[in-house]
Amino acid sequence: MGYKIFHGKDIIPNMYELSPEIVEQAVKGKAYKAPKIRVKPEDLPRRPPNLCAGCSHRPLFYALKKLGAFVFGDIGCYTLAVAPPISALHTTICMGAGGGMVHGAMKAMGKEALGKMVAVLGDSTFLHSGLAPLMNAGYNKGNSTTIVLDNRITGMTGHQEHAGTGFTVRGEVANQVDYAEIGKALGIKNIRYVDPYNIKETMEIVKEEMNRDEASLILCKNSPCMLLRRAKPLERFKNPLYAVNMDKCRGCKMCLEINCPAISWREGAGQTKDGQKRKGTAYINPDQCVGCEVCVQVCKFDAIEPAKK
Ligand code: SF4
Ligand code: SF4
Repeated sequence: MGYKIFHGKDIIPNMYELSPEIVEQAVKGKAYKAPKIRVKPEDLPRRPPNLCAGCSHRPLFYALKKLGAFVFGDIGCYTLAVAPPISALHTTICMGAGGGMVHGAMKAMGKEALGKMVAVLGDSTFLHSGLAPLMNAGYNKGNSTTIVLDNRITGMTGHQEHAGTGFTVRGEVANQVDYAEIGKALGIKNIRYVDPYNIKETMEIVKEEMNRDEASLILCKNSPCMLLRRAKPLERFKNPLYAVNMDKCRGCKMCLEINCPAISWREGAGQTKDGQKRKGTAYINPDQCVGCEVCVQVCKFDAIEPAKK
């Protein structure tokens, strides 16, 4: 737009966290001193942004990809589903935009859009700015499907409390909103729950709602953020660890499609116990696996089995 910045980046950096210390120094007018980088960038391991091992958004977006849904996304940790190989999030504009966009797209396309698209947003984003688009879908006779994730905290920006967590920012117990009641109050008649860790069931429910010629709200249940210790996210998993059975692994790479950071590929020609040739095998890092069983559901050869920690 022709603007020139003459001053500012010398005191507020365009990299790193905007910490209270940086802001304090800037208010005092002191020049910003970048921390010394102690390792050479080329020596760092490659670690592209990814959802955590065990994150419930991984199986949900995998299910949406399998359904071939066009996903109007939103802003949050789940925006990482845009990255390959999951590649199951197609728009991200601003907080709350996905719900409005799916409603508008379905209105514009008519019945042709049924079964083809969905909006996904996190619970804190939903409370922040997802209510108005959902109310609009209910009021204006929309037929969109909106999926609300169960982070149970504000995931991406650092675990701030919100009206759905049951705690204030000071950690005091507070009222916890009921998402289904909100949906009803906004005029949504079709409210369903899914357990995103059950890929088959999730696909069935999402497919039904995407094909419904009325607005729907799908609430993810029992699948809080992996890093939210008080919600005990690991307690629901039957086994703490899974491993690839080298006698059975065919090297088909299907388990790599879910992009779990615990799973990697090991090159090396070989064969299964029953003589099936392969070019390599999948490997599960026992230090990273949390036992979510998502890869188990994806492997068609039953090659991923419970292991001991
Ligand atoms: S563990 Fe299963 S899905 Fe993964 S490469 Fe081996 S056979 Fe394929
Ligand atoms: S069970 Fe599979 S998908 Fe889940 S954390 Fe372990 S390796 Fe990753």
